[in-house]
Amino acid sequence: MGVSEVRPWEAGGDVSALVAAWTADLSRPAYLPMSGAQLRSFLTAAARVLAAACAAEPVDADAARQVGASLVDADLVVPEVLPATVGALGRHLGGLAMSAGAARPLDAAPVVAAAVADGYVTRLRARILDEQETIRRAEVLARRQIELDLRSSEARFRAIFANAAIGIGIADMTGRIVDANVAFAAMLGYTVEEFCKLRVSDFVYPDDADGMWELYQQIIEGDRDSARVEKRYRHRDGHLVWTDLTASLIRDPTGVPLYTVAMAEDITTRRKLQERLRRQALHDPLTQLPNRTLFQDRLNTVFARPGARVGVCYLDLDRFKAVNDRLGHDIGDQLLVAVAARLDACVSARGHLVARMGGDEFVVLVEDPPPHELELLAQTVLEALAPPVVVGEHRLTASASIGVVECAVDETTPAEVLKSADVTLYWAKAEGRNRWARFDPERNAREMTRYTLSATMLHGLEHDEFRVEYQPIVRLDDGRAAGVEALVRWAHPTLGRLGPDSFIGLAEESGAIVQLGRHVLVEACERAAAWNDAHPRAELFTSVNLAVRQAQEPELVDDVARILKRSGLPPHLLQLELTESALLGPEGRPVEAITALAEMGVRIAVDDFGTGYSNLGYLPRLPLHTVKLAGGLVEGLHSPTTGAGPIVAGMIVLAHALGLDVTAEGVETSAQAERLRAGGCDTAQGWLYARSLPWRDVEQLLDDPLPHT
Ligand code: C2E
Ligand code: MG
Ligand code: MG
Repeated sequence: MGVSEVRPWEAGGDVSALVAAWTADLSRPAYLPMSGAQLRSFLTAAARVLAAACAAEPVDADAARQVGASLVDADLVVPEVLPATVGALGRHLGGLAMSAGAARPLDAAPVVAAAVADGYVTRLRARILDEQETIRRAEVLARRQIELDLRSSEARFRAIFANAAIGIGIADMTGRIVDANVAFAAMLGYTVEEFCKLRVSDFVYPDDADGMWELYQQIIEGDRDSARVEKRYRHRDGHLVWTDLTASLIRDPTGVPLYTVAMAEDITTRRKLQERLRRQALHDPLTQLPNRTLFQDRLNTVFARPGARVGVCYLDLDRFKAVNDRLGHDIGDQLLVAVAARLDACVSARGHLVARMGGDEFVVLVEDPPPHELELLAQTVLEALAPPVVVGEHRLTASASIGVVECAVDETTPAEVLKSADVTLYWAKAEGRNRWARFDPERNAREMTRYTLSATMLHGLEHDEFRVEYQPIVRLDDGRAAGVEALVRWAHPTLGRLGPDSFIGLAEESGAIVQLGRHVLVEACERAAAWNDAHPRAELFTSVNLAVRQAQEPELVDDVARILKRSGLPPHLLQLELTESALLGPEGRPVEAITALAEMGVRIAVDDFGTGYSNLGYLPRLPLHTVKLAGGLVEGLHSPTTGAGPIVAGMIVLAHALGLDVTAEGVETSAQAERLRAGGCDTAQGWLYARSLPWRDVEQLLDDPLPHT
């Protein structure tokens, strides 16, 4: 049976019927805030109140309204509650009223039902209003909180803005300064009000860094949002203020540029410190002149310019060390300061840079020197230094030696230029000081070669770069080799094969000749000893050159004795060749070692006889065995018309009279050989017979008579 077909008064008359129907109808909505049992007990109580309300006389509508309101209070507020309640009451309230003993149940039931509905609706509306009010109030509260927050963040911002140590300024898009803090205004000598009357363009200076205002332009055009530069401002009183400036753009929420904000930190002190440090790094603390680093920078700059010419005057004070040693470093320092001031005055006036390179060395850099500028400059400097320098009670004379170099930067390097200038400076010193010298590339090349040879000689000895060659010394009567002369050569790793004339002199200067000479002696003795062992009747002697320095070596006699012993060569098969100057001691007496060697049985020969004093008078005083006639004398024998013939013949006769053998050097033609033989000369050596050769080649010549005899 459908609900709508039940007539109210037929549906049973007790509370339970109403409760059952009410509970069932209310349970249909999807969501109720209580369980089925809770609902039933709640509705039972409500039904009882309604039964009592119906029975009351007059009907108690208030109690019924109260029941309606209690439904809302119990959160039974879904839309289905009211129709379900009205339905259940409509069907069962009449019966309930009747059983409750209402005087007119059919009148009472609708009144009570209506009152329930009214109570429900009234309470529900009140509740909705209430909720709306709560929401509104929450909204108001929230808005107030936001305003409060905003205001406090604004206040915080203002506080930061106003009190910041960093300068902050805001300008509109036309460049008008609209706001600035005290720090910014004060940094440039203004009050905030004064500052806000200025425009950004008031701080544009012609010497602003390149590109700075282009950056600003890009910001106000919205092309970039910020930029950071080091900007120099002019303070109101005129001095300069360096700032680290950050400019940024503020846009409105739609992105349209509104303001630019500039934040400037005063870095003047830092800049000054940097400036001072930079100056210190590039200047000499004593003389305040630019130092080596600055000079080097400037020199490199010139070299970076293709086609440029560069001139350098390298200057060193003469005998400055003596001032330091005699008068102390304080006076030395003061002299340097005075010299630096004079240099600065005369060099700067000509528009050049003068720097102190250290110690008593100074250097002048001349960019693209006009003709004769360097000579004039060097002369001016010498003249500027000429007047005495008064330091305390001392009157000091300061002179200098100057090395002058000029060249095209494309042809050299900065380091080369300085090296050349330094070398030239020493030429000036060697030529007598207080003068300038100009760099000469050829002289330098010669000296460089000498230097290289000198520096690599001992290394060359250790690495066996020196080779001994041998030239046969031939008997003029039978053309057989009587001996060989040992002649040293240097197979230099970079300079190639070098003859003795290019290094023997250097070896004498450096002292390396002692080692080199011993090397030749050892090899020559070993070769001769081996040859004589194999050819016992040959009696082949080996002739070794001895330099002046070797003859003065205290070890010489012992050395020779040791070498002879070790090689097994009899002393009479070793000949030592010395020039006249090496044979004679300071008082014209024979050098002691030579006498000792001669006593040992070693043959002593005077080499190159006829080129030096050729003083025949001293020959009898020397412990000699052989006279070697110099190639120059022999050359004269080439043609019968020269007057050399009688001289050579006379020398041979004299030598023989003294019991000496005669060897002619540099024999190139058979005519020479013939005239020598006719003159009684004993032996000869020269290209006619053989050039100097490695031992294995010369060995093959020793057995047979040599050609052209
Ligand atoms: P020196 O002792 O007078 O040696 C003879 C020089 O004449 C050698 O030159 C030789 O090659 C050269 N010569 C030989 N035959 C002829 C010729 O027919 N015509 C011409 N024009 N020249 C000829 P070298 O080898 O250049 O030696 C030059 C000098 O170097 C030597 O002159 C000697 O004084 C010195 N020397 C060579 N080796 C040594 C050494 O081991 N120790 C020392 N202290 N000096 C040496
Ligand atoms: Mg010789
Ligand atoms: Mg000679």
